[in-house]
Amino acid sequence: MSATLRSERIALDPPLPAALRRDVEQGVYYCSDLIADARVDRAAGAWIELDLLGVSDAELSDLTRVVRDWVERTVASSLAYEDTIAREWGRPEAGFRATPEQVLASADLHSMGEGLVAYGPRLASVFGALRELWDRLAAEVGATPLVLPAVATLEHMQRCDFLRQFPQLLSFVTHFREDFGVIDRYAEACRRGDTESACAPPAQDMSSFRRMLRPAICYHVYPCFEGEQLAGDLRLVHAWGDCFRYESRNTTGLDRLFDFRMYEVVALGSADAVHRWRSGMMERVVERFEALGLPGRLKTSNDPFFVSGSVLKSTFQRAHDLKYELEVPFPNREGHLAVASFNEHQDFFASRFGITTRDGEVASSGCSAFGLDRILAALLVHHGTDVNAWPAPTRQTLGLNT
Ligand code: AMP
Ligand code: ZN
Repeated sequence: MSATLRSERIALDPPLPAALRRDVEQGVYYCSDLIADARVDRAAGAWIELDLLGVSDAELSDLTRVVRDWVERTVASSLAYEDTIAREWGRPEAGFRATPEQVLASADLHSMGEGLVAYGPRLASVFGALRELWDRLAAEVGATPLVLPAVATLEHMQRCDFLRQFPQLLSFVTHFREDFGVIDRYAEACRRGDTESACAPPAQDMSSFRRMLRPAICYHVYPCFEGEQLAGDLRLVHAWGDCFRYESRNTTGLDRLFDFRMYEVVALGSADAVHRWRSGMMERVVERFEALGLPGRLKTSNDPFFVSGSVLKSTFQRAHDLKYELEVPFPNREGHLAVASFNEHQDFFASRFGITTRDGEVASSGCSAFGLDRILAALLVHHGTDVNAWPAPTRQTLGLNT
């Protein structure tokens, strides 16, 4: 029997600042697994509405307090800022050719639940073409390729200071303890059991959690340069692969996956060189989006926060223009989808990995990250699910005509 659902509106006084509304709506799910859906008053920030699963009156008052406290802490630890739109292009009014639901229903897209998707041959070839488009851009700016692991150690991610800032996104990897009895007992349970729960390993049989799935590409780049003094003003590398973020109930369609593919170009060098590189990169990328026939805008943004420390970091990013996002109009609640980001980390990573400039100063770093699944989703909603009917310039830009 399914749990009953009740909707509760929690008044927010003072109202939630505009710049926090999206992230609060997406972050509130991590407060309780009884929250099935959440809506923030986007117009005035005066309330948050929660759809709750099988909650009693007593549980409701506890949960309301937890959510209120979390929102209060979030507001208290944020900095005031206003969004900047650096650039806007294209004709959003041209409209969409497909809904996200039609995209998901495409015969070439296999949705496997839990934020996992697979592409059949037709979409896989578009996906490959997209990757090659970024490969050409990376080569144009002088970036060289790296191949990196999809798993990161706890020690490494602690060194990158990721753990305390974004714990809600983490997915740990573990395995059985080296113990024949434990492993044999498990194999026997799976032989007999035909349900998922029969095959769920008991926590005490597992090893400690010392590895995790990478949440982004660039964390593995810094150890490749550990202790190095850079020879030139700027060193550029690129890599791509699967990244993993636990997005709780925000997981939807193609645009918010648990396992998604990211392409990154990463820069190391003097602060000035990295800053100039990021500006140049934004120009080049906007050109590519125009060539793909995708309208969009470049806007200051922040990483998703949940715990108080990360709210401060997120709003600091915004206040100092450390993160820009490239957004494409998209038929979701925001009206836009962030498909790429352009980040400056100042000397944050280079200081942790002892990377210096040719002048012997601590280096700076920056990265531009492209969500390949999201760009594919944007192409499909803007140009339709029939790839053969896409506009000629789009197909040409992707090299699909040959
Ligand atoms: P970020 O490191 O948060 O700036 O992410 C880089 C890019 O990865 C974003 O601009 C998105 O295009 C993509 N991305 C981030 N999270 C997800 C997700 N859960 N599902 C699909 N793409 C994502
Ligand atoms: Zn990065």
